[in-house]
Amino acid sequence: MPPRSRSAWTRTLGQLVLVLAAALFTGLVLGQVWLALALAALGVVAWHYWRLRRVLARLTSRQRQPIASGEGVWNELERQLRANQENMRARKRRLVAMLRAYRAVAAALPDAVIVVERNTQRVQWFNAAATGLLGLRYPGDIGQPLGERLRTLQISHWLAAGRNAEPLLDAPSPTSSDIRLNLRLIPYSEDLWLVVARDVTKMMRLEQVRRDFVANVSHELRTPLTVVHGYLDMLDPQEHPEWAPMLSEMQLQSQRMTQLVEDLLTLSRLEAQEGIDSETVAMGSMLSTLRREAEALSQGRHVVTVEDAAGVDLRGSTKELHSAFSNLVSNAVRYTPAGGTIAIRLARDDDGLVLSVRDSGFGIPAAHLPRLTERFYRVSTSRSRESGGTGLGLAIVKHVLNLHHARLEIASEVGRGSLFSCHFGAERIEARDPTTSGAMP
Ligand code: ADP
Repeated sequence: MPPRSRSAWTRTLGQLVLVLAAALFTGLVLGQVWLALALAALGVVAWHYWRLRRVLARLTSRQRQPIASGEGVWNELERQLRANQENMRARKRRLVAMLRAYRAVAAALPDAVIVVERNTQRVQWFNAAATGLLGLRYPGDIGQPLGERLRTLQISHWLAAGRNAEPLLDAPSPTSSDIRLNLRLIPYSEDLWLVVARDVTKMMRLEQVRRDFVANVSHELRTPLTVVHGYLDMLDPQEHPEWAPMLSEMQLQSQRMTQLVEDLLTLSRLEAQEGIDSETVAMGSMLSTLRREAEALSQGRHVVTVEDAAGVDLRGSTKELHSAFSNLVSNAVRYTPAGGTIAIRLARDDDGLVLSVRDSGFGIPAAHLPRLTERFYRVSTSRSRESGGTGLGLAIVKHVLNLHHARLEIASEVGRGSLFSCHFGAERIEARDPTTSGAMP
């Protein structure tokens, strides 16, 4: 017990002893000891009840009443209760201020933020940006199911995916189709989810400008390059033997530039594409074409094996898939020293079909693997140049696979070789038509 309370307690006990002693004395004088003691005890009890009632009244009263300055236990109790009450009030005020500040921050965010109840998918709260970007109205939309409210976005399934929901990229806003949104679902507690929608219109426009620029520049470069290339071809090194090394270097470089321009144009075309042709890709002929290409590139320096363990075809674009696979094959040949092996294999796996290209070449250090499909990303610039690479091959592969909802997996070990595998979903598999197993045109 703190000293203050202890002294209040002894004081009150002292008072009781005094009252009883005074009653005893009076009783002795008047010859009515028990009556005097009983009356005094009754008085003490009545006084205590009266103080108890006052404490209760103070606790429930909304007004602040002054506290008596006495030293007794009841005054001490009132003081303690008042101190506790004030502490609680101050804490509540601080919490409310903090809550308001957080709400103000969330409300002022430029991104639309919506709190959704997990089980019912009903809207619990949203900020002002959700009105501008998603057309939600306060208070009418509080308590409404979000999937139905944003029907144009078709997000019910996406919301149902919960923790596994991938961000929705480049979705049109329900308020205006000119506004493009990226949506993310963040399960921040057991019962509540946060839906965040960000306006990416400007970014998309910039991206479009960049794409157009690259496509236009590449297109414009094509004609002058063809002319230069044509004239270089016409020059006969035998007429001027001293120019021969220069001429062959110029030819090599102009070929590289042409390849670069072609790859850039391919990438621009793939980027602009929303969907992909859906035809039957005859994998039998695709594999024989890849074998021929690998052997032509290798010119007998490697052992090329092709295995078809699946015996099925794919649904997609023959032209784009061929360009992706032949990029992988060409990389395998270019980054494998003479004497190595290149194994092309088509096989089923648990979730679909895999086309893999394995080589026993230089391999790639693990640190480079995540960035390999970026444009112009090269592990070794000199080796890529030497081998005639543009640095765009794997970016093209990734784009083609994305368009087919497939994924590229890369495994590699330095000095032992690499494995590039393209995984296609089961929905892309088609039973093979025996008439289409010839070579590709
Ligand atoms: P490049 O035209 O330079 O080959 P890519 O985009 O096709 O460009 O490949 C990017 C980089 O990945 C290459 O520069 C090379 O360093 C590395 N790489 C790709 N395939 C292989 C492979 N089979 N073995 C080793 N390294 C590879």
